[in-house]
Amino acid sequence: MKSKEGTVYKQSRKGRQGFSINDRAVADKNISDYLPKDLIRTNKARLPELSEFDVVRHYTRLSQQNFAIDTNFYPLGSCTMKYNPRINEETSSYDGFANTHPWQYQHTVQGNLKLMYELGESLKTITGMAGVTLQPAAGAHGEFTGLLCIRAFLENQGNPRKKVIIPDSAHGTNPSSAKLCGYDIVKIPTGPEGIMDVAAVAKVMDEDVAALMVTNPSTLGIFEKNIKEIADLVHDKGGFVYCDGANMNAVMGNVVVADLGVDCLHFNLHKTFTTPHGGGGPGSGPIVVSELLEPFLPKPVIKKTNEGRYVAEFDRPQSIGRVRAFFGNFGMLVRAYTYIRELGPEGIKQVSDMAVLNANYIRARLKDHYSLAFEAPSMHEVVFSDKSLKGTKVKTLDVAKRLLEFGMHAPTIYFPITVSGALMIEPTETENKETLDEFCETMIQIAKEAKESPEKLTEAPQNTFRSRLNEVKAVREPVLREQW
Ligand SMILES: *Cc1c(COP(=O)(O)O)cnc(C)c1O
Repeated sequence: MKSKEGTVYKQSRKGRQGFSINDRAVADKNISDYLPKDLIRTNKARLPELSEFDVVRHYTRLSQQNFAIDTNFYPLGSCTMKYNPRINEETSSYDGFANTHPWQYQHTVQGNLKLMYELGESLKTITGMAGVTLQPAAGAHGEFTGLLCIRAFLENQGNPRKKVIIPDSAHGTNPSSAKLCGYDIVKIPTGPEGIMDVAAVAKVMDEDVAALMVTNPSTLGIFEKNIKEIADLVHDKGGFVYCDGANMNAVMGNVVVADLGVDCLHFNLHKTFTTPHGGGGPGSGPIVVSELLEPFLPKPVIKKTNEGRYVAEFDRPQSIGRVRAFFGNFGMLVRAYTYIRELGPEGIKQVSDMAVLNANYIRARLKDHYSLAFEAPSMHEVVFSDKSLKGTKVKTLDVAKRLLEFGMHAPTIYFPITVSGALMIEPTETENKETLDEFCETMIQIAKEAKESPEKLTEAPQNTFRSRLNEVKAVREPVLREQW
């Protein structure tokens, strides 16, 4: 089904109305009598005029054009688009969670404080770390918060430093966060195996480096097996190891990151712990830290008293302060807590086992049809390069566009930027074998088409709500606001 859905402004017709209330009591009073004169608009707001039916149909149609994890396979690498269990939605809408106010007296919200305390304890257990804050609103915000704690620790020691080391395969948020914290970025290349090279770190590690940021498994889906040695190098010079935990989905329950020498790590609850994401959030990016960094965490920190009560502790003189209003995105915390409680320790481990198994199943089925970017074993995602497409008329983008015609979301493409024409696939543990098989068979068919009938790819998609877009024009001449 194709549709050219105009915006509500385009559909507006003068005089159309959603509904009208004929209440004399209301009509007799003029609302502007109650408002300060300087706040009253003199020119009328130009709002679209539509009937209720027009509006209902418009938004229902738009919702049907949406691609969602609830409708189809969504193997977007690095994003961990796993299923969002409905029980999370139910618990987060319980009255006591959904209808409390963050300014309520603490004795009236003991359950909410307990939930945050226990969620924090679970995240500490999963990583073996000493302290936690649930405030950051997303992974990138967690990076920023963690680096601020590191900076505060170093400044408190009278030892401010200037640099942060980041491998070239890192997510773009890593250098952005470091820059926002005032650091210069030292970029190091990943070695031929797709992981950080110990010698490359040793070469740049000095006493002006505040931290090394590492993603493990890396954004190439490969376990950084030299991490302990690298962490020792960093610690020897008084630096900290920041771990981007966006890929915890591959290791939780199997690896205790504190044992790897990590001093600080963020979670993306909206990736690993099934809180919904996409379309701008809300996300949640708690961080866990080592004992050294604990005093610097944002405040308040949720504590349990000896009497078994839960308190939000504000008296923390070394705290970096607040990074988010109130307690963070509380509804996300309820969802993640529900998920953890539902799975238990065994279930948490099984999640990463299955996520890794699923990615490797896809790897095994596709490796003769697409070129593996690296020989090293895959963790929860597998990256192919465009090498096998060389000599055909198609590019990675065309493969992605063709997939849309089969009702599947495209994998991540052209990221990580260190891989030529990257195609990065992350199935997650929540997909069954039938779905994985259907995806693999489709990918194999597309590889064949690339050679035999490339126009099927270069002109795709034809049978979606929107056919092939002019992406260059979209970037150069974005229309962000409809003129009417
Ligand atoms: C998603 C992701 C981030 C950023 O997390 P947000 O929650 O989107 O801010 C950082 N690093 C990696 C590796 C990621 O996959």
